[in-house]
Amino acid sequence: MILIVDDKPENLVSLRGFLEHNNFSVDSASSGEEALRKVLKTIYSLIILDVQMPGMDGFEVAETILDYSKAKDTPILFLSAVNIDKEFITRGYQSGAVDYITKPFDPDILLLKVKTFNRLFEQNNQLKQIQKSLKKEIEQRKLLEKKKDEFISIASHELKTPLTSMRGYIQLLERIINKENNEDLKTYISKASFQINKLGDLVSDLLDISNMESGKMKFNIRPFSFQDMLNNAVENIQHIFPEHSIIRKGSADLIFLGDEMRLEQVVVNYLTNAIKYSPDKREIEVESIITKDTLEIRVSDSGIGISKELQDQLFEKFFRVEESSNRFQGLGIGLYICREIIQRHNGICGVNSQLGKGSTFFFNLPIKNT
Ligand code: ADP
Repeated sequence: MILIVDDKPENLVSLRGFLEHNNFSVDSASSGEEALRKVLKTIYSLIILDVQMPGMDGFEVAETILDYSKAKDTPILFLSAVNIDKEFITRGYQSGAVDYITKPFDPDILLLKVKTFNRLFEQNNQLKQIQKSLKKEIEQRKLLEKKKDEFISIASHELKTPLTSMRGYIQLLERIINKENNEDLKTYISKASFQINKLGDLVSDLLDISNMESGKMKFNIRPFSFQDMLNNAVENIQHIFPEHSIIRKGSADLIFLGDEMRLEQVVVNYLTNAIKYSPDKREIEVESIITKDTLEIRVSDSGIGISKELQDQLFEKFFRVEESSNRFQGLGIGLYICREIIQRHNGICGVNSQLGKGSTFFFNLPIKNT
């Protein structure tokens, strides 16, 4: 609804008639004071204000409306016959007008302006509604995310205790069975042990993620031989997966200042992924390159690969390539943790991959202060 404010009844009647004739609903006030009372009760889409009125003039009315939060977004259009000097027009804009029209006005132009302001007001209202509902949605999201983080934290802590004692009992069994020389039992126990270790890795990843979210992931920064760490990691993984052959290339022969265990965790994660996602191909390559400023580690496989458009998302939390997610087990958090570890060492992670041809996952670490 449009509010027109004018002290002259004949002006009110003619403007009201003109606007109503053009399908606008109109309310009117014959003084500034009356207009303010109306604005308190109703939200108008446009206020057309006469400047020259006894009592409060149009400028004062506009300034008061501007201070009132419910009406401060309503556009104000000044109509004036007397105050057509630049100084008055400027004051009109300063007091909150969106337009200033001098009388006598062209009705077609006035109509165009009224239509435009009316539409802007409605669009503005719609935008506000959308913003409000988006804000609400985001808050609900945030809440769910918090609940999920709390759940992961509790679940991973609770899972860790029984897992540790299971691991202990399996180790005891292994010792007894080794003495008895029963090959079948040895195989079963070693399989159980492998699965328990896998479960242990999953629980550790969950714990890491919950520590990361709460900013509690600890880093133990010390100098260590990167070459030894890398070769050990490769040997261990080679031992667990004898059917794949891991080829080591390049040198990482430097003393590096960082968290050895965490960086080994990244290498192991890249390696186990390379093995997991190349079930039909047996060769994995681990290359290390030292340049003046950086140490780069690349783990390459000739496995299933990843399409270009998904590569940016691989290091995101819980991201898994959907097409292959049924074929390969996983939680989609390994690479997310890798990225955090590398970033905490001021490095970067990345991938080059071709669908169906294979992937190279790499990380770069600065070696300046090493
Ligand atoms: P997970 O392997 O447990 O799902 P990751 O965070 O380690 O979780 O990896 C995220 C996703 O990236 C995987 O689900 C997989 O789709 C893809 N991916 C990771 N490494 C490779 C690889 N070497 N080859 C092809 N896809 C990979």
